[in-house]
Amino acid sequence: MNEQQLSERLEKVVSYIPKGARIADIGSDHAYLPCHAIQKGQIEFAIAGEVVDGPFQSATKQVRSLGLTGEIAVRKGNGLAVIEMADRVDTIVIAGMGGALIRSILEADSNKLTGVTHLILQPNIAAHQLREWGEANQWALVSESILREDNKIYEILVLEPSEQKVSYSDSERLLGPFLMQEKSAVFQAKWEHELANWKEIQTQIDASNAKNEAKLVELAMKIKIIEDVLR
Ligand code: SAM
Repeated sequence: MNEQQLSERLEKVVSYIPKGARIADIGSDHAYLPCHAIQKGQIEFAIAGEVVDGPFQSATKQVRSLGLTGEIAVRKGNGLAVIEMADRVDTIVIAGMGGALIRSILEADSNKLTGVTHLILQPNIAAHQLREWGEANQWALVSESILREDNKIYEILVLEPSEQKVSYSDSERLLGPFLMQEKSAVFQAKWEHELANWKEIQTQIDASNAKNEAKLVELAMKIKIIEDVLR
């Protein structure tokens, strides 16, 4: 992968960025996403934020080698802390991390979300954490995608600030309101796999001497949700 040929996953993330946006790509690694988005004329400005030195150096090198230092500011820092008011960032991208980590990044510096109109989040796991965060903070899902690449399944969530209360049913929160409507083959495959996994865990707990009743109740609830939707 490079800035010219992004992964299908990152290409899909870029497709959700509004034309002419000023973005912060948090956890940018090699800064492939912002470089690509600038080069294709999709965005006006980007911050490539990185907390770890190695990826920060790679991003710096990449942006310099493409001559994009005027359009992309590479900054070292934790999560949203790299965003300054003067940047006038309207879109935040956080991709390639777990849902819990993305949520903790959003929670740690929620004041940096002022003026932001789009969040494009790509959790590798636990997307429900981000739907829950949206409910608690009045950010509504406006679109979702699911795709398979290199035998891994990824979800992409797009959120916008909402005037109204945001609330999802248990199944919408776990599976995604748009994804469960669409019920694509990839969605079906993901949840059939999870279902088999959870049933296996259920059997193991049932067979063990020290039964974790709370875990069994939680599993039974999740299994029912999935069975009802896949049916
Ligand atoms: N966003 C790219 C993508 O989707 O391909 C890179 C994903 S990479 C797996 C995750 C990156 O996030 C790593 O480079 C890591 O250093 C960075 N990261 C993790 N926690 C972070 C945080 N709190 N703030 C900024 N960057 C972070």
